[in-house]
Amino acid sequence: MRLSVIGWPIQHSLSPVMHGAALERLSEAEPSFSSWRYEREAVAPADLAAFVTGARGDPDRVGFNVTIPHKVAIAPLLDRLTASAERTGAVNTVRRQGEALVGDNTDAEGLMRALDEAGVRLTGTAVVLGAGGAARAATVGLLDRGVQVHVAARDIGAAQTVASLGADRATWSALTAEALLAVSPSLVVQATSASMDEAAGRALAELVPLERWRRDDGSLVVVDLVYRPRITPLLARAASLDLAVVDGVGMLVHQGALALGAWTGRRIDVAAMRAAVIAALVQGG
Ligand code: NAP
Repeated sequence: MRLSVIGWPIQHSLSPVMHGAALERLSEAEPSFSSWRYEREAVAPADLAAFVTGARGDPDRVGFNVTIPHKVAIAPLLDRLTASAERTGAVNTVRRQGEALVGDNTDAEGLMRALDEAGVRLTGTAVVLGAGGAARAATVGLLDRGVQVHVAARDIGAAQTVASLGADRATWSALTAEALLAVSPSLVVQATSASMDEAAGRALAELVPLERWRRDDGSLVVVDLVYRPRITPLLARAASLDLAVVDGVGMLVHQGALALGAWTGRRIDVAAMRAAVIAALVQGG
Protein backbone atom coordinates (compact mmCIF):
# COMPACT_ATOMS: atom_id res chain seq x y z
CA MET A 1 0.00 0.00 0.00
CA ARG A 2 1.19 3.49 -0.79
CA LEU A 3 1.15 6.57 1.41
CA SER A 4 2.93 9.82 0.71
CA VAL A 5 3.23 13.54 1.30
CA ILE A 6 2.83 15.83 -1.69
CA GLY A 7 4.22 19.35 -1.87
CA TRP A 8 6.43 21.68 -3.92
CA PRO A 9 9.22 21.72 -2.80
CA ILE A 10 9.06 18.62 -0.63
CA GLN A 11 12.63 17.41 -0.04
CA HIS A 12 12.83 18.76 3.53
CA SER A 13 9.62 17.14 4.78
CA LEU A 14 10.02 15.13 7.99
CA SER A 15 6.82 13.17 7.29
CA PRO A 16 8.53 10.15 5.64
CA VAL A 17 10.85 9.57 8.60
CA MET A 18 8.00 10.10 11.08
CA HIS A 19 5.48 7.83 9.35
CA GLY A 20 8.19 5.31 8.48
CA ALA A 21 8.97 4.88 12.19
CA ALA A 22 5.30 4.31 13.05
CA LEU A 23 4.79 1.88 10.13
CA GLU A 24 7.82 -0.09 11.34
CA ARG A 25 6.21 -0.45 14.77
CA LEU A 26 2.90 -1.49 13.18
CA SER A 27 4.61 -4.12 11.06
CA GLU A 28 6.28 -5.63 14.15
CA ALA A 29 2.80 -6.44 15.47
CA GLU A 30 1.16 -7.13 12.07
CA PRO A 31 3.59 -8.21 9.32
CA SER A 32 1.09 -7.21 6.61
CA PHE A 33 2.09 -3.59 7.29
CA SER A 34 5.67 -4.28 6.19
CA SER A 35 4.57 -3.75 2.58
CA TRP A 36 3.23 -0.26 3.34
CA ARG A 37 5.41 2.60 2.11
CA TYR A 38 5.34 6.33 2.88
CA GLU A 39 7.19 8.50 0.34
CA ARG A 40 7.68 12.14 -0.56
CA GLU A 41 6.28 13.19 -3.92
CA ALA A 42 7.18 16.48 -5.56
CA VAL A 43 4.00 17.68 -7.26
CA ALA A 44 4.16 21.04 -9.04
CA PRO A 45 1.04 23.24 -8.81
CA ALA A 46 0.33 22.73 -12.52
CA ASP A 47 0.33 18.93 -11.99
CA LEU A 48 -1.96 18.83 -8.95
CA ALA A 49 -5.20 17.98 -10.78
CA ALA A 50 -3.52 15.18 -12.75
CA PHE A 51 -1.98 13.83 -9.54
CA VAL A 52 -5.42 13.68 -7.84
CA THR A 53 -6.97 11.90 -10.83
CA GLY A 54 -4.13 9.38 -10.84
CA ALA A 55 -4.40 8.80 -7.08
CA ARG A 56 -8.16 8.27 -7.33
CA GLY A 57 -7.64 5.55 -9.94
CA ASP A 58 -4.92 3.72 -8.02
CA PRO A 59 -6.43 1.44 -5.33
CA ASP A 60 -2.97 0.95 -3.76
CA ARG A 61 -3.06 4.56 -2.66
CA VAL A 62 -4.71 4.49 0.76
CA GLY A 63 -4.09 8.18 1.30
CA PHE A 64 -1.62 11.02 1.30
CA ASN A 65 -0.64 14.14 3.20
CA VAL A 66 -0.76 17.54 1.57
CA THR A 67 1.58 20.40 2.32
CA ILE A 68 2.60 23.82 0.95
CA PRO A 69 1.44 25.04 -1.55
CA HIS A 70 -1.45 22.61 -2.15
CA LYS A 71 -3.47 22.69 1.10
CA VAL A 72 -6.15 25.05 -0.20
CA ALA A 73 -5.94 24.36 -3.94
CA ILE A 74 -6.59 20.63 -3.57
CA ALA A 75 -9.97 21.00 -1.82
CA PRO A 76 -12.17 21.45 -4.94
CA LEU A 77 -10.39 18.54 -6.67
CA LEU A 78 -11.50 16.02 -4.02
CA ASP A 79 -14.82 14.16 -3.78
CA ARG A 80 -15.71 15.14 -0.21
CA LEU A 81 -14.35 17.18 2.68
CA THR A 82 -14.68 16.46 6.39
CA ALA A 83 -16.16 19.13 8.66
CA SER A 84 -12.65 19.93 9.91
CA ALA A 85 -11.35 20.53 6.37
CA GLU A 86 -14.42 22.63 5.55
CA ARG A 87 -13.95 24.83 8.61
CA THR A 88 -10.22 25.30 8.30
CA GLY A 89 -10.53 25.82 4.54
CA ALA A 90 -7.50 23.59 4.03
CA VAL A 91 -6.70 19.90 3.54
CA ASN A 92 -3.61 18.29 5.07
CA THR A 93 -4.73 14.66 4.79
CA VAL A 94 -6.53 12.76 2.03
CA ARG A 95 -7.93 9.26 2.52
CA ARG A 96 -9.58 6.82 0.15
CA GLN A 97 -13.15 5.75 0.85
CA GLY A 98 -14.09 3.27 -1.86
CA GLU A 99 -13.59 5.13 -5.13
CA ALA A 100 -13.71 8.53 -3.48
CA LEU A 101 -10.94 10.74 -2.09
CA VAL A 102 -11.90 12.52 1.13
CA GLY A 103 -10.06 15.65 2.29
CA ASP A 104 -9.50 16.06 6.01
CA ASN A 105 -7.57 18.44 8.25
CA THR A 106 -5.85 16.97 11.31
CA ASP A 107 -3.89 20.14 12.21
CA ALA A 108 -6.46 21.60 14.63
CA GLU A 109 -6.93 18.36 16.56
CA GLY A 110 -3.18 17.69 16.35
CA LEU A 111 -2.46 21.00 18.05
CA MET A 112 -5.09 20.41 20.72
CA ARG A 113 -3.58 16.99 21.52
CA ALA A 114 -0.12 18.54 21.73
CA LEU A 115 -1.38 21.21 24.15
CA ASP A 116 -3.19 18.61 26.27
CA GLU A 117 -0.05 16.47 26.34
CA ALA A 118 1.98 19.49 27.48
CA GLY A 119 -0.53 20.07 30.29
CA VAL A 120 -1.68 23.46 28.96
CA ARG A 121 -4.90 24.64 30.61
CA LEU A 122 -7.17 26.12 27.97
CA THR A 123 -8.97 29.08 29.54
CA GLY A 124 -9.36 32.78 28.88
CA THR A 125 -7.96 34.31 25.70
CA ALA A 126 -5.41 32.99 23.24
CA VAL A 127 -3.50 35.26 20.87
CA VAL A 128 -2.91 33.62 17.48
CA LEU A 129 -0.14 35.28 15.46
CA GLY A 130 -0.62 34.94 11.68
CA ALA A 131 -3.57 34.36 9.40
CA GLY A 132 -2.49 31.48 7.14
CA GLY A 133 -3.53 27.83 7.21
CA ALA A 134 -1.83 27.04 10.53
CA ALA A 135 -3.46 30.07 12.19
CA ARG A 136 -6.87 28.96 10.90
CA ALA A 137 -6.34 25.46 12.28
CA ALA A 138 -5.22 26.84 15.66
CA THR A 139 -8.21 29.20 15.78
CA VAL A 140 -10.70 26.43 14.98
CA GLY A 141 -9.17 24.11 17.58
CA LEU A 142 -9.10 26.76 20.31
CA LEU A 143 -12.63 28.00 19.63
CA ASP A 144 -13.92 24.43 19.77
CA ARG A 145 -12.36 24.11 23.22
CA GLY A 146 -14.16 27.21 24.47
CA VAL A 147 -11.19 29.60 24.32
CA GLN A 148 -11.59 33.23 23.17
CA VAL A 149 -9.22 34.00 20.31
CA HIS A 150 -7.49 37.19 19.21
CA VAL A 151 -5.95 36.92 15.73
CA ALA A 152 -3.10 39.31 14.91
CA ALA A 153 -1.56 39.39 11.45
CA ARG A 154 0.30 41.89 9.32
CA ASP A 155 -2.56 41.61 6.82
CA ILE A 156 -5.45 42.88 8.95
CA GLY A 157 -8.05 41.77 6.40
CA ALA A 158 -6.72 38.21 6.60
CA ALA A 159 -6.78 38.44 10.41
CA GLN A 160 -10.43 39.49 10.29
CA THR A 161 -11.28 36.58 7.97
CA VAL A 162 -9.73 34.08 10.38
CA ALA A 163 -11.42 35.75 13.37
CA SER A 164 -14.78 35.46 11.59
CA LEU A 165 -14.59 31.72 12.35
CA GLY A 166 -15.35 32.68 15.94
CA ALA A 167 -18.21 35.19 15.52
CA ASP A 168 -18.41 37.03 18.87
CA ARG A 169 -15.70 34.87 20.48
CA ALA A 170 -12.86 36.16 18.32
CA THR A 171 -11.26 39.55 17.76
CA TRP A 172 -8.52 40.67 15.41
CA SER A 173 -5.90 43.35 14.94
CA ALA A 174 -2.79 44.27 13.07
CA LEU A 175 0.40 42.54 14.20
CA THR A 176 1.85 45.51 16.09
CA ALA A 177 3.10 45.85 19.66
CA GLU A 178 0.54 48.56 20.28
CA ALA A 179 -2.41 46.44 19.15
CA LEU A 180 -1.17 43.40 21.06
CA LEU A 181 -0.91 45.40 24.30
CA ALA A 182 -4.69 45.76 24.29
CA VAL A 183 -5.06 41.98 24.76
CA SER A 184 -4.39 39.99 27.92
CA PRO A 185 -3.80 36.39 26.85
CA SER A 186 -3.09 33.22 28.81
CA LEU A 187 -1.79 31.51 25.65
CA VAL A 188 0.22 32.75 22.66
CA VAL A 189 0.22 30.62 19.50
CA GLN A 190 2.87 31.68 16.99
CA ALA A 191 1.43 30.50 13.65
CA THR A 192 3.35 32.61 11.14
CA SER A 193 6.26 31.27 9.11
CA ALA A 194 8.47 34.12 10.44
CA SER A 195 10.03 31.79 13.04
CA MET A 196 11.65 29.75 10.27
CA ASP A 197 13.92 32.67 9.42
CA GLU A 198 16.39 33.92 12.05
CA ALA A 199 16.01 37.65 11.33
CA ALA A 200 12.23 37.62 10.80
CA GLY A 201 11.80 35.40 13.83
CA ARG A 202 13.82 37.77 16.00
CA ALA A 203 11.86 40.79 14.77
CA LEU A 204 8.60 39.03 15.63
CA ALA A 205 9.90 37.91 19.03
CA GLU A 206 10.82 41.50 19.91
CA LEU A 207 7.42 42.81 18.89
CA VAL A 208 5.36 40.44 21.07
CA PRO A 209 4.93 42.05 24.55
CA LEU A 210 5.73 38.96 26.60
CA GLU A 211 7.00 40.96 29.63
CA ARG A 212 3.73 42.86 29.81
CA TRP A 213 1.68 39.68 29.34
CA ARG A 214 3.59 37.74 31.99
CA ARG A 215 1.33 36.70 34.87
CA ASP A 216 2.27 36.45 38.53
CA ASP A 217 0.92 32.90 38.72
CA GLY A 218 3.20 31.82 35.82
CA SER A 219 0.22 30.77 33.71
CA LEU A 220 1.22 32.40 30.40
CA VAL A 221 2.15 29.71 27.86
CA VAL A 222 3.93 30.43 24.56
CA VAL A 223 3.57 27.96 21.70
CA ASP A 224 5.38 28.11 18.37
CA LEU A 225 4.01 25.92 15.58
CA VAL A 226 7.30 26.12 13.69
CA TYR A 227 9.48 23.10 14.54
CA ARG A 228 12.57 23.89 12.45
CA PRO A 229 14.31 25.45 14.33
CA ARG A 230 12.83 23.71 17.34
CA ILE A 231 13.76 26.59 19.67
CA THR A 232 12.56 29.61 17.73
CA PRO A 233 13.52 33.19 18.68
CA LEU A 234 10.08 33.64 20.30
CA LEU A 235 10.43 30.48 22.38
CA ALA A 236 13.98 31.44 23.35
CA ARG A 237 12.76 34.82 24.54
CA ALA A 238 9.82 33.28 26.40
CA ALA A 239 12.11 30.77 28.10
CA SER A 240 14.49 33.57 29.13
CA LEU A 241 11.50 35.16 30.91
CA ASP A 242 10.74 31.83 32.65
CA LEU A 243 7.51 31.38 30.71
CA ALA A 244 6.20 27.91 29.86
CA VAL A 245 6.93 27.02 26.21
CA VAL A 246 5.66 24.38 23.78
CA ASP A 247 7.45 23.74 20.47
CA GLY A 248 5.91 22.66 17.16
CA VAL A 249 7.04 19.02 17.29
CA GLY A 250 4.01 17.89 19.30
CA MET A 251 1.55 19.25 16.74
CA LEU A 252 3.55 17.75 13.86
CA VAL A 253 3.55 14.34 15.49
CA HIS A 254 -0.11 14.36 16.52
CA GLN A 255 -1.46 15.59 13.18
CA GLY A 256 0.57 12.79 11.58
CA ALA A 257 -0.61 10.14 14.04
CA LEU A 258 -4.24 11.15 13.46
CA ALA A 259 -3.75 10.73 9.69
CA LEU A 260 -1.96 7.39 9.97
CA GLY A 261 -4.57 6.14 12.44
CA ALA A 262 -7.33 6.94 9.93
CA TRP A 263 -5.45 5.28 7.03
CA THR A 264 -4.58 2.10 8.92
CA GLY A 265 -7.45 1.82 11.41
CA ARG A 266 -4.81 1.10 14.08
CA ARG A 267 -3.48 2.76 17.23
CA ILE A 268 -0.32 4.64 16.34
CA ASP A 269 2.90 4.70 18.35
CA VAL A 270 3.15 8.46 18.86
CA ALA A 271 6.38 8.11 20.86
CA ALA A 272 8.10 6.35 17.92
CA MET A 273 7.04 9.16 15.59
CA ARG A 274 8.30 11.82 18.00
CA ALA A 275 11.65 10.07 18.49
CA ALA A 276 12.12 9.84 14.71
CA VAL A 277 11.33 13.55 14.23
CA ILE A 278 13.63 14.66 17.03
CA ALA A 279 16.47 12.46 15.74
CA ALA A 280 16.05 13.95 12.25
CA LEU A 281 15.99 17.51 13.64
CA VAL A 282 19.12 16.86 15.70
CA GLN A 283 20.87 15.54 12.58
CA GLY A 284 19.76 18.67 10.74
CA GLY A 285 17.39 16.61 8.56
P1 NAP B 1 0.89 30.18 5.26
O1 NAP B 1 -0.50 29.74 4.98
O2 NAP B 1 1.84 30.49 4.16
O3 NAP B 1 0.78 31.45 6.25
C1 NAP B 1 1.92 32.10 6.72
C2 NAP B 1 1.51 33.25 7.62
O4 NAP B 1 2.70 33.79 8.18
C3 NAP B 1 0.79 34.38 6.92
O5 NAP B 1 -0.16 34.95 7.79
C4 NAP B 1 1.94 35.38 6.66
O6 NAP B 1 1.54 36.70 6.54
C5 NAP B 1 2.70 35.21 7.95
N1 NAP B 1 4.07 35.68 7.87
C6 NAP B 1 5.05 35.22 7.07
N2 NAP B 1 6.20 35.90 7.31
C7 NAP B 1 5.92 36.80 8.30
C8 NAP B 1 6.67 37.79 8.98
N3 NAP B 1 7.97 37.97 8.72
N4 NAP B 1 6.06 38.53 9.94
C9 NAP B 1 4.76 38.33 10.23
N5 NAP B 1 3.97 37.43 9.59
C10 NAP B 1 4.56 36.66 8.66
O7 NAP B 1 1.66 29.06 6.15
P2 NAP B 1 0.99 28.08 7.21
O8 NAP B 1 0.60 26.82 6.54
O9 NAP B 1 -0.02 28.83 7.98
O10 NAP B 1 2.25 27.73 8.13
C11 NAP B 1 2.81 28.69 9.00
C12 NAP B 1 3.95 28.03 9.76
O11 NAP B 1 3.43 27.01 10.61
C13 NAP B 1 4.95 27.36 8.82
O12 NAP B 1 6.25 27.69 9.22
C14 NAP B 1 4.69 25.87 9.02
O13 NAP B 1 5.88 25.11 8.92
C15 NAP B 1 4.15 25.82 10.44
N6 NAP B 1 3.23 24.70 10.61
C16 NAP B 1 3.53 23.77 11.55
C17 NAP B 1 2.68 22.70 11.74
C18 NAP B 1 3.03 21.67 12.78
O14 NAP B 1 2.52 20.56 12.66
N7 NAP B 1 3.83 21.99 13.78
C19 NAP B 1 1.51 22.55 10.97
C20 NAP B 1 1.23 23.54 10.02
C21 NAP B 1 2.11 24.61 9.85
P3 NAP B 1 1.34 37.39 5.09
O15 NAP B 1 0.07 36.83 4.54
O16 NAP B 1 1.27 38.84 5.40
O17 NAP B 1 2.54 37.00 4.27
